[in-house]
Amino acid sequence: MCLEAGVARRWLRAQRPSNKQMIHLATQQRNEIAAHGERDYPYEACGLLLGSFRADGQKIVGETYAISNAREEEAKRNRFLIRPEELLRGERYAETSGLEVVGFYHSHPDDSAVPSQYDLEHAWPLYSYIVVSVRSGAAEELRSWEMQADRSRFAEEEILVPQT
Ligand SMILES: [Zn+2]
Repeated sequence: MCLEAGVARRWLRAQRPSNKQMIHLATQQRNEIAAHGERDYPYEACGLLLGSFRADGQKIVGETYAISNAREEEAKRNRFLIRPEELLRGERYAETSGLEVVGFYHSHPDDSAVPSQYDLEHAWPLYSYIVVSVRSGAAEELRSWEMQADRSRFAEEEILVPQT
């Protein structure tokens, strides 16, 4: 990941008046994440959240960017991994669209929308992690998380639906 952007985000974080984390996610992008989770069921779907970081640290999702799960077949059910070249391609696309990577999404087939220990161990700070629960092929709960600064756990973010 881009180190400079990380430093800028830490600065943004310092400006944040409270610890309340929020992400703005429109119905269209929410539906795209749900549809991708259903399409890849019973495997985990994953992708990027592209948009912008607001000065107060809130994140705005402008687009979703679907990518494939790089894990081998039997592991695809419960953990996701994004290949560096796919992440790079997503970041290049974001750049040409005037967007930034603000986070990641993935599905939990037949499991809750709560990040796993694996997710925590592989998370980067400041990014949003949206998890959608897909049960028997149907997307259900969708929740957003950000890892705490001490990396000990995820804190849930409030999902705001922008008025259009
Ligand atoms: Zn997960």
